[in-house]
Amino acid sequence: MSKGDRFRLTFLGAARTVTGSMHHLEVRDQSLLVDCGMYQGRRKESNERNRNLPRKAVEADVALLTHAHIDHSGNIPSLVKRGFSGPIHCTSATADLCAAMLRDSARIQEADARWLNNKHLDDPDWETVEPLYTEEDAETALQQFAPHDYDREFELFPGVAVRFLDAGHVLGSASIVVDVKLNAHRRRVVFSGDIGRKNLPILRDPVVPEHADYVLMESTYGNRLHAPADGMRQQLLDAINTARARGGKIIVPSFSLERTQEIVFALNELIQQGLLKPIPVYVDSPLSVDLTKVFRAHPECYDDETIEFDNNHGDPFGFKMLTMVTDVEQSKALNQLRGTAIIISASGMCEAGRVVHHLRNSIEDAKNMILIVGYQAENTLGRRLVEHRPRVKIFGVERDVRAEVRVLNAFSAHADKNELLEWADICAKQARKVFCVHGDPDQCEALQSHLEARGLKATVPSMGDSADLDY
Ligand SMILES: [Zn+2]
Repeated sequence: MSKGDRFRLTFLGAARTVTGSMHHLEVRDQSLLVDCGMYQGRRKESNERNRNLPRKAVEADVALLTHAHIDHSGNIPSLVKRGFSGPIHCTSATADLCAAMLRDSARIQEADARWLNNKHLDDPDWETVEPLYTEEDAETALQQFAPHDYDREFELFPGVAVRFLDAGHVLGSASIVVDVKLNAHRRRVVFSGDIGRKNLPILRDPVVPEHADYVLMESTYGNRLHAPADGMRQQLLDAINTARARGGKIIVPSFSLERTQEIVFALNELIQQGLLKPIPVYVDSPLSVDLTKVFRAHPECYDDETIEFDNNHGDPFGFKMLTMVTDVEQSKALNQLRGTAIIISASGMCEAGRVVHHLRNSIEDAKNMILIVGYQAENTLGRRLVEHRPRVKIFGVERDVRAEVRVLNAFSAHADKNELLEWADICAKQARKVFCVHGDPDQCEALQSHLEARGLKATVPSMGDSADLDY
């Protein structure tokens, strides 16, 4: 091999921003894509970015996925639709989660396009909107998934081997270790994926890759520290008992992946320990129900506490008074519920999905409680509730917020600044360079300077930048 062999990284997404993860690595004349996430921002820009995937991405030989979150996996069906025909390697749990999430995402894309086209039925100049991808496109893409176990090395191309290490962020999440042999040299490139935290429920602690030469590192909280999440269970218990004392319902808007299963498991443990008197609980979201089945099917991803619970008490995600609701009629029937009950429903930021109906039904009764358990972005109904606005608009109608709104100090699934630096101290100890990606510009730049202060060489790439790597 000549010295001119290609060894190059290109940053195709999540550069100076948090969504649309997509990175490209060329080794000689072969290339791999890491993640193909949906870009989520203003409608027009998102549309353009998600529809116009870079040629490098479509022409990559193989794809690797760090985890199932839509901002990392959501554009895989578009990639395949545009001609990508290689295998999509990921962990087994990620493959199963993606099956449910990509089908769901396709249905949303199709429904959105239908809604927009119907809205403009009388507009002669309206150009029919095509969905970003359809359920059929998602099915085709799912055929290309190639599931792997954690920590089991496999050969991608001659001289390029790959391993998935548990990133402890969501079920199946991984940091990806790519070992490359070039001439007599061995080089290791690590894609951190989203880095989780120690002691998260259900999941094992992150496994930190070692001896990296080059690191692409997430920077979501490059300059922020999390408040301690201790006492989440106690707060949950207090909230339920308060609402129960006045005979109210508790509506829990929750993300379908991970947070819903965390809450269900926490309730299960509280009941099992005799701390919580059994109470009817409904998980009302077809996606949450499907994803919970995937959690049950992957005990190999559980931490010791969850394994122990499974051994001693059975299913961590099921108990006597828990009902999984998929049927629309059954969901509507929940409106007639009398007495105290917990309804866990998506979406997590109250912007769409069945939870909006439950909020409309419950928000004007002071007996009820809305329990916020996750991050609420600006300009969402969830954020307005967290801000304790006296009135909010639901389905276009202003309503008084009489129900009590409580915010739980839930766990963040992302490492904070100190945890990121601890991770880098191990992974990037001898690295030639760290590329800070997946963060808003201020967070990426802050992480860069924290890393430099520790003597590491770090940089913040922009979208479309390439870096030739030394070997
Ligand atoms: Zn993630």
